[in-house]
Amino acid sequence: MAYEFKIERTASPKAKESLQGSVFGTRFTDHMFILDYDKGQGWHDGRIVPYQPIMLDPAAKVFHYGQTIFEGLKAYLTADGRVLLFRPRSNIKRMNLSNIRMSIPTLDEELFLEALRQLLVVERDWVPSEEGTSLYVRPFVIATQATLGVSPSHQYKFMIILSPVGAYYSEGVNPVSIYVESGYVRAVPGGVGEAKTAGNYAAGLQAQEEATAKGYSQVLWLDGVERKYIEEVGSMNVFFVIGDKVVTPVLNGSILHGITRDSVLQMLKHWGYEVEERQLSMQEVADAHRSGELKEAFGTGTAAVISPIGELYWQEKAMTLNGGRTGELSQRLYDELTGLQRGEKEDPFGWTVELKG
Ligand SMILES: *Cc1c(COP(=O)(O)O)cnc(C)c1O
Repeated sequence: MAYEFKIERTASPKAKESLQGSVFGTRFTDHMFILDYDKGQGWHDGRIVPYQPIMLDPAAKVFHYGQTIFEGLKAYLTADGRVLLFRPRSNIKRMNLSNIRMSIPTLDEELFLEALRQLLVVERDWVPSEEGTSLYVRPFVIATQATLGVSPSHQYKFMIILSPVGAYYSEGVNPVSIYVESGYVRAVPGGVGEAKTAGNYAAGLQAQEEATAKGYSQVLWLDGVERKYIEEVGSMNVFFVIGDKVVTPVLNGSILHGITRDSVLQMLKHWGYEVEERQLSMQEVADAHRSGELKEAFGTGTAAVISPIGELYWQEKAMTLNGGRTGELSQRLYDELTGLQRGEKEDPFGWTVELKG
């Protein structure tokens, strides 16, 4: 084995309670992975330790200048007791793209996968078995050097924490209502929109809160220059079924490269759908709605997998999509993708990776 990590086991394992009705990301397992970086030395001292708070100097750069990135993926328990990961290599590749954009040193892909594997072996019993549940994996990097100069940190911590999560939809897939945001923007060309970095989310909170106050569950972001072209929804990519085509905004530098987005595109092509990745204006969507060509729309992301859109609010008008119900294609994609992730359906794409050891 190329990577040997020290393992310190907890003396007080937590009780594993039912995830029924649990809120996303509020529970954590017994252990976590930590790896340090020092300039001149590189990444070193990978270890698995009991889940616990970490101590940082108040001057640590992450607190002041936001030099940090994160990832998100899920591990699933199959009916026959295997643990499956969904496209983990895509996450480490994307993490390194985020690292490069934020001037953070990259991580070796094999090291990342081995750290994840060894942590999951220790925490295997934490992968929940209840219907619709999974173990959410949150890798992240923070800049820890304690200096206030605005420059890339000389020290970092890479960590992986694990959170057992309940079924996203407790009563079947449910459509969400979306507020199309024409004032605030999420990202601009040349900015950090395609990096999974903390600032993007902090910058979106105000719009999200205002949309919530108006009764909408998510914000749809338009492009940061003209506020005309569709970018993404909350922390999901977005698809529209217009006539017999499925259209999603092209990755233009300010949109996050969703792994669910890529999986949906590949799946749709495999099924023979005509898919278009292109610039798509909100006006075109509104026109398609008026003419009856807009059949359905949905968001894609690791947490919800597929999130059908029941209503879009734009320029003082509400548009109801597909009668506010889950569309046929949204449902099919949800069933196929979650079925494949749980090992219940065949995986012609080779996306699922079984945990070994
Ligand atoms: C993580 C994320 C997505 C979805 O990516 P997945 O890999 O499908 O989970 C989409 N948009 C934003 C802004 C994200 O942070």
